[in-house]
Amino acid sequence: MTRNSSTLGRCPDCGEEIDASQSIIEFEDADGSTGVFAECYSCDEVVRPE
Ligand SMILES: [Zn+2]
Repeated sequence: MTRNSSTLGRCPDCGEEIDASQSIIEFEDADGSTGVFAECYSCDEVVRPE
């Protein structure tokens, strides 16, 4: 699966694409993968892109 490096994913609430420039903080998930929180401009909230 090809993944655009400049896109983190989509907002779980509204489905809007979240750009890498919208990221706020990265963290290590319990399973060792890296997660990220980003600001959704559409919801005006911090979300976890998926
Ligand atoms: Zn949203």
